[in-house]
Amino acid sequence: MSIPNNITLLGSTGSIGTQTLDVCRRHNIKVKALTANKSVKLLCEQAREFMPEYVCIGDDSLYSDVKNSLADTDIKVFCGIDGICEVATVKADMTVNAVVGMVGLRPTLSALDSGNMVALANKETLVTGGELVMKKAAEKNLPIIPIDSEHSAIFQSLMGNEKNKIDKILLTASGGPFYGYSYEQLKEVTKAQALKHPNWAMGQKITIDSATLMNKGLELIEAVWLFDVAPDDIEILVHRQSILHSAVQYADGSIIGQLGVPDMKIPIQFALTYPERHSCDVKRLSLSDVGTLTFAKADEETFLCLASAKKAIKRKGTACTVLNSANETAVELFLKDKIPFYRIGELVADALRDVKPEDKVTLEAVLETEKTAKEYVLGRV
Ligand code: MN
Repeated sequence: MSIPNNITLLGSTGSIGTQTLDVCRRHNIKVKALTANKSVKLLCEQAREFMPEYVCIGDDSLYSDVKNSLADTDIKVFCGIDGICEVATVKADMTVNAVVGMVGLRPTLSALDSGNMVALANKETLVTGGELVMKKAAEKNLPIIPIDSEHSAIFQSLMGNEKNKIDKILLTASGGPFYGYSYEQLKEVTKAQALKHPNWAMGQKITIDSATLMNKGLELIEAVWLFDVAPDDIEILVHRQSILHSAVQYADGSIIGQLGVPDMKIPIQFALTYPERHSCDVKRLSLSDVGTLTFAKADEETFLCLASAKKAIKRKGTACTVLNSANETAVELFLKDKIPFYRIGELVADALRDVKPEDKVTLEAVLETEKTAKEYVLGRV
């Protein structure tokens, strides 16, 4: 479809959102709608620059701030999760969902319902509602274009190979800041250390998820849904340099992968311009400068979240929602200094053991499970 004329952007003030707007600036893509959760000031600045038809602020209590600040424009202002869903249905060449957390699920379904193609950076959407989202996308005959760097790499490695049998997917992981740590060492780590990712500059939630390896667990689940593979056909490969962004091994033994500098602008732009490639203002990858690429197995015994994620996706039903909701809650508690780092993995494992998932996946069941798992974790602190 090449460069879109216009997009709607959900989650415009976060790390992926602002970089998506960089791509829009570079390629003159019009933005029809912008949404943010709480960042009023940045949202209003973006609105003045891109002049969308709609903006939405997720936090209802900030509605009048946004409304007043844009009073001299024709921009229509919405608020709340219902507002975000409404904005997701605005007709556009593509809806980019860069919302953080499982709150992004309903807007994804709304966008597909109204026939918009979705570029997805919101991994929790597929983790909690993968079954619903992929069913809806198939019904509407719309592709889901991944923005997550690993899934973009897999997506690119599958292009032109649609009819070929794959052996397995190689999902790469940086290993995070605590690679090589023992469980005892994990007990001593600080918030500042956990928030310092070796290769990628990202938002807080995903940076903590990278430190616990939950991010890789969520990405494994994401890959199961996006590429219709069994969990056991995905190998997690710790690759410290974050240069090979993931790969596919085919029936003949060949591995095809995508390499590049660790800069999200490449997968974001590719999602927007798929199947074409256009110039992008990122550093060129020089393999001779990198010199060495290393690969190792992931340590599931120390990083409990990874083992929990595998358990959840094999169990099906709303088990992945238990996993995700427990994790979202635990990470929030950690960021508020209410629990130490290593407790995140334990609380997630406990929730998976004690909270019974629903067998049938419906939006209601997902939302109900989310609440139960959240309450469970809060009740144990
Ligand atoms: Mn990723």
